[in-house]
Amino acid sequence: MEQSAEVRRLATALATRQTPDFEAWESLLLQAARQGGAGVLGSLLTHWQQHGSKEVILCQCGQRMSSRGRRAKRLLTTLGRVPFARSFYQCQQCRQGCYPDDEHLDIIKTTYSPGVRRLMARAGSQTQFEQAAQDLHCYAGLELEAREIERVAEEVGRQVEAWLSDQQEQMLQTGPEVSCALEPDAKLYISFDGTGVPVRKNELLGRRGKQADGSARTREAKLGCVFTQVGLDKEGCPQRDADSTTYVGAIESSTLFGWRMYAEALRRGLDQAKTVIALTDGARYNRTIVQTHFPHAVHIVDLFHAYEHLTVIAQILWGQEAKAPKAWRDLLEAGDIARLVRKAGKYLPASAKSKKAMLKQLGYFEKNAPQMGYAEYREKKFFVGSGVVEAGCRTVIGERLKQSGMRWSVRGANAIIALRCCILSGRFEDFWASRTS
Ligand SMILES: [Zn+2]
Repeated sequence: MEQSAEVRRLATALATRQTPDFEAWESLLLQAARQGGAGVLGSLLTHWQQHGSKEVILCQCGQRMSSRGRRAKRLLTTLGRVPFARSFYQCQQCRQGCYPDDEHLDIIKTTYSPGVRRLMARAGSQTQFEQAAQDLHCYAGLELEAREIERVAEEVGRQVEAWLSDQQEQMLQTGPEVSCALEPDAKLYISFDGTGVPVRKNELLGRRGKQADGSARTREAKLGCVFTQVGLDKEGCPQRDADSTTYVGAIESSTLFGWRMYAEALRRGLDQAKTVIALTDGARYNRTIVQTHFPHAVHIVDLFHAYEHLTVIAQILWGQEAKAPKAWRDLLEAGDIARLVRKAGKYLPASAKSKKAMLKQLGYFEKNAPQMGYAEYREKKFFVGSGVVEAGCRTVIGERLKQSGMRWSVRGANAIIALRCCILSGRFEDFWASRTS
């Protein structure tokens, strides 16, 4: 309480000055409020310890544990440092020890309060850890080291992943717990894509990549999103429902990712939706996932990827600056892929290398033809572009994990991806509440 007398003295001194310094007043009072709050919080903890019901602490071996006296612990809260000491219990038999108060307060093996850990996780998920440390100092007056933020953010990320995979398991066994409110005429979109995350050398052993020498620098993170669409915009084009997009992602096999994607779609109302649309870029594993988990979905291959392939054909035939003839583009938009392939196929180049490249491109159209009925999709007011998931790859993964100089461990990257997906899907508060219930 001495400190607050000091604050009051200072405040009086500041107030008597001729020119007001609003910001100095603010920061002084904020500091005072924190110090006062830390004092009250300390008293609250002591009061709780003295008056809480005394329980019998049993060891895993069945023996009763007895108190071995109090041990002090450093504790940083959002109000600042708070003095804290709690009883240490030990088993006479097997010497196992524990701190029951730490368990009740959710501060097992950590010196950070739950409030501070939440801030660390959030800040560390948003920006580079050094920047996060500066942000937390500026916004919350907390002195934290970057590597501590990294450690806590990744730990919380792994808890998020565990929470999600529990839910996924449950979903796959018994279906969604509560049926989600999907509008009767809502279309459910499922879309996924991959993006490279730069990883440490030891994460790449034996992997082939896109570097000139065949080596790899990155591992593919797969990102999936689910969103709904009911209405149309002024031009009569489909409009994504506001705040309807949720994300899942990880660096993992396409098989595991398929289940992850499926569980998320179930959670979002896959069973209720009358129209389900899967939007992909036409990569082979995408097709497998759609066939395995979403056999009733309308599978659409992104129109803009298809355009790119058409441009590649034009470049093979007529050089780097060439564009595909309008007639071809019209056929693509009309979804008349058979005619498009016939028409373009007449121009097969003579050189073996170009011919091979050209046949590969024509093969792309032949393989994906059933997913390219663009005229029909437009008629039904479906989205035909995978822009949502591509933007998701940038915001969810790229902006945080692909900054210059970054090299991730797969474990660390997956923790941060889980955290970001959870936050950007608006589910972080649910997760946090679930930890203590
Ligand atoms: Zn024991």
